[in-house]
Amino acid sequence: MATLVKDKPRTGCINPIFNCQPCGAQFAAIGIRDTIALVHGGQGCCTFVRLMFAQHFKENFDIASSSLHEDAAVFGGTKRVIDGVKNLVLRYPDLKLIPIITTCSTETIGDDIEACIVELDAWLKENHPSRGIRVIPIHTPSYKGSQAMGYNAAMEQIVRALAKRGEPSKKVNVFTGWVNPGDVTELKHLFSEMGIPANILMDTETFASGIMPDKSSFAYGDTTVSDLANTANAFASVAPCAYEGGLAAKYLESEFRVPSMVGVTPIGIENTDKFLRQLSDLTGRRIPRSLVEERARAIDSIVDLGHMFLAGKRVAIYGDPDLVIGLADYCIELGMEPVLLLMGDDLKGYKKDTRIAELGKKAVGFEMEVILNADLWELERRLRDGMKLDLILGHSKGRFIAIDYQVPMVRVGFPVFDRAGMWKNPIFGYHGAEWLAEAIANEFFAHMEFKKDREWILNVW
Ligand code: SF4
Repeated sequence: MATLVKDKPRTGCINPIFNCQPCGAQFAAIGIRDTIALVHGGQGCCTFVRLMFAQHFKENFDIASSSLHEDAAVFGGTKRVIDGVKNLVLRYPDLKLIPIITTCSTETIGDDIEACIVELDAWLKENHPSRGIRVIPIHTPSYKGSQAMGYNAAMEQIVRALAKRGEPSKKVNVFTGWVNPGDVTELKHLFSEMGIPANILMDTETFASGIMPDKSSFAYGDTTVSDLANTANAFASVAPCAYEGGLAAKYLESEFRVPSMVGVTPIGIENTDKFLRQLSDLTGRRIPRSLVEERARAIDSIVDLGHMFLAGKRVAIYGDPDLVIGLADYCIELGMEPVLLLMGDDLKGYKKDTRIAELGKKAVGFEMEVILNADLWELERRLRDGMKLDLILGHSKGRFIAIDYQVPMVRVGFPVFDRAGMWKNPIFGYHGAEWLAEAIANEFFAHMEFKKDREWILNVW
């Protein structure tokens, strides 16, 4: 049946799905080693984002703020940027990179960040010539787009500022997108099994920091400034999430002739197959038997669950666009019916996204609504009006809807703060397909027991 792509039928937003652009830029920045971003705006633009990172990862990340007040909002805040960067340089001896992330207020008053950077570069050259610190601009005017767009814009601007032609590296740039560390581990695994050296951008696997015997512990990203400089010399770029990393891959293609593969999100069996096939075409490496066996194990797990527990279940999905599209595709593969997809921002590109059109062709026997610029109230309104849903896939901000309407919910995306350790699990690759199918089934099982709804089946399947 048809896919209906439409805008939310009202202005304003009740219970937003997304945060604003600077949030995405901050997520990109915490993935780089020896880096502290300075968010140029009111303190809350940084504080609330840090809080969400801490809630999701249960770790702390260093992010600075120029802490704009009324006087700066009227007369300009560039002095606070200059002072803020100098403070960071003096306090953090290992610092290598300081991205200056703008916000709605500082974009509106028109603070000239590029001029600040010229002044700071001269100061660094004179006072700290041996430290090699780079200060770069990231413009994220938050009155349009979303955290996803901010991440995409930040990745592009970071690469634009740092990529530098040198010797060919033979590596493939992997712009992971805004995914969990579990997915970064899975991407590394797929590349390693294929025998392809990967330049991971950004490598967040190290967010899983331990508590050392001396009590020192902090989380950090592991992509280096030199990894970013080397993106210009890669053999190719891969960006599984078109809306989060696609811009950087396309920039490298146009500026440095690094071929790119953008928007094949390896969520589910079919999409992982496609991802590996295209990767094989791009690099000339064959898909090894180990991955074929991994695929076989995932299919075996799915077959055990699909017909009996998953088929025909109606699903609502919200979150980052590539995640929503990939999950919807996987739901259809599992025999489920993704009837409602909520895109949390106003990006015009969704209407032309061929992947959404493809979903429409696959949605046989049910109608799929894709709501642009959506909020969580759209989900709640439908449930209140009697829409039947068997499952919600989304981040923790929708938890009260799931609780109030007693709809089983599997937490995916960002932020997830009401379930433990979810960021360690992949949803990418065959491992991710297997984990996700089992997580959905286990959620249904718990719900059957809670509702005393044919829970006896669990004794006999
Ligand atoms: S919308 Fe503007 S003021 Fe609010 S957090 Fe984002 S950047 Fe800061």
